[in-house]
Amino acid sequence: MFKKAMAILLCTIMICGCTAPAQQKTENEGLSVVTTVFPVYDWLRNITEGTDTEVTMLMQNGSDLHNFQPSAKDIITINDADMFVYIGGESDEWTADVLREAKSSLESVSLMDSGRVSLVEDKVKEGMTVEEEEEPENDEHIWLSLQNAIKYTELLSEKLQEIDPDNAERYHQNAEAYIGKLMALDREYSVTAENAKNRTLVFCDRFPFIYMMKDYGLDYYAAFNGCSAETEASFETVVYLGEKLDELQLKHVFIIENSNTDIADTVIRTSKDQNRDILVLDSMQSVTGGQAENGVTYLSVMEENLEVLKKGLN
Ligand SMILES: [Zn+2]
Repeated sequence: MFKKAMAILLCTIMICGCTAPAQQKTENEGLSVVTTVFPVYDWLRNITEGTDTEVTMLMQNGSDLHNFQPSAKDIITINDADMFVYIGGESDEWTADVLREAKSSLESVSLMDSGRVSLVEDKVKEGMTVEEEEEPENDEHIWLSLQNAIKYTELLSEKLQEIDPDNAERYHQNAEAYIGKLMALDREYSVTAENAKNRTLVFCDRFPFIYMMKDYGLDYYAAFNGCSAETEASFETVVYLGEKLDELQLKHVFIIENSNTDIADTVIRTSKDQNRDILVLDSMQSVTGGQAENGVTYLSVMEENLEVLKKGLN
């Protein structure tokens, strides 16, 4: 009995180990693609439109990637998938353990390790309040750049074409069409930046927009670097940002979605002109699964961000 069981087990292992082009899907069954954050989910949704490929996003309930820990169910979802796409920054360290245990046929894609875009360190800039002993790391908010979105759409389309040749043409065409839209919006951003009266943004908040600033040659000051865990801006930071507002004669300050205005209010109060308003740029770190199903898209958020930027740069 025991021998028979062992033989079956070994057979199973051998079969698993030998299904050579295991990365190709079986017939009549849609591919399953899993990703972590909303922007990547939406890129994949566009690329796979009209196919039987199913795309799942793990961060459904608005928790951002900095706080995310996968549940047992999430780990099963990844294991059952054909392809798993993740950001690959410091917040994604949990993926190493999950991938070590995953089946060999799982195609995993780390966007930051793909070499498709130039990464930027979330380095500390003058005036910021910084966590102690913080090493600079590559900034993880790689989706906050339309130019990166274009490169990653190309990458994901190529990967999908490799593992699912039956739908290759569809992925290719979808990706081309989507890239066209991304490029058009990128041009609008460029024009806005070129026509800007001022080219500096003051963030009285965390600062996940470093890739966007780099794309359009915009300068910035911020209370914290990246998505620092700090929440209290130091007195020096408040004074520094207030002085920058006066010096550059800026009419607006920025915060990110779901932040309170405490630091911004204090900075404005410290400055010489109280008649400044607070603008909100959406970094898409807390888009819920429900919002994603109800019409929120990467492009719709980036379009809204452009309108906000138009105000902020004048
Ligand atoms: Zn962040």
